[in-house]
Amino acid sequence: MTKERYIGRFAPSPSGLLHFGSLLSATVSYLDAKNKNGLWKLRIDDIDEERSKPQNTIEIINQLKAYGLFPDEIYHQSEHIKDYESYLNKIPKSLLYLCKCNRKRIQSLPQSKLGNIYDGICRDLDHNSGSTRVRSMNMSKKFYDLNFGETQINDEEIYDFIIKRKDSFAYQFCCVIDDFLQGVTNVTRGSDLLYSTLQQRFIQKLLNLPELDYFHHPVLVIDSKKISKSEDATPVKKENRLKNMIKILTLLNQTLPSQKLSYDELIKHAIQNWESKDIPKVMNISIS
Ligand SMILES: [Zn+2]
Repeated sequence: MTKERYIGRFAPSPSGLLHFGSLLSATVSYLDAKNKNGLWKLRIDDIDEERSKPQNTIEIINQLKAYGLFPDEIYHQSEHIKDYESYLNKIPKSLLYLCKCNRKRIQSLPQSKLGNIYDGICRDLDHNSGSTRVRSMNMSKKFYDLNFGETQINDEEIYDFIIKRKDSFAYQFCCVIDDFLQGVTNVTRGSDLLYSTLQQRFIQKLLNLPELDYFHHPVLVIDSKKISKSEDATPVKKENRLKNMIKILTLLNQTLPSQKLSYDELIKHAIQNWESKDIPKVMNISIS
């Protein structure tokens, strides 16, 4: 039996440029893919036209290349609206319904690890417009994460979630279709998306798409006493790449080279010595 080739991805949104935290995320997915002789694909999360700036897309790609992270494919969500439509049509109509509840009402509902727990009041109202929700009572409550291990939610945290708003597709839905269309085998991303994996797996199952492996890394939090918020969002620059990459590898508990290396040699060393099992198993890490 031949094992399929590892295909990983990084999916930034062009609402802003890459800052230190997003660079850390890009680095984890890149090193994990390259260590396993895999492909690393870039997905530009530009479906939200209002927030996405085309100039940012160009600059994000330049930032990644400046840091030695060269994508094997560049995919734009905005070019796949027809695909989202066609996959939505493959979900049995009996599992979908329209919801007209406004944001204010939803936000007043109790919170779970997946968001506000929708109470299903539109389930049998047969609205003819609104957001599309999927009946989720058969959703699995647990999955195995390659970093955090067995990950679970409670029964009462499951709710019918939105897969399409009035005029745009929801993140959870696009993400599943994109992963499939890009041939992704391994999803490596921040722990802020850990529990959304359950909703994504549920959509995969409904559409008979292959299950993927998930690895969530701890999200970087900035100690507000030491680094101001404005600095936190500062785009990473090429001039600081050696210092920034050493800082990232240190935060990820990776082995640093014993002698001084050039930047390209440092990346090579990081790929060869990559140990995903050494990454901290806490939800957040902070810069000290
Ligand atoms: Zn509703």
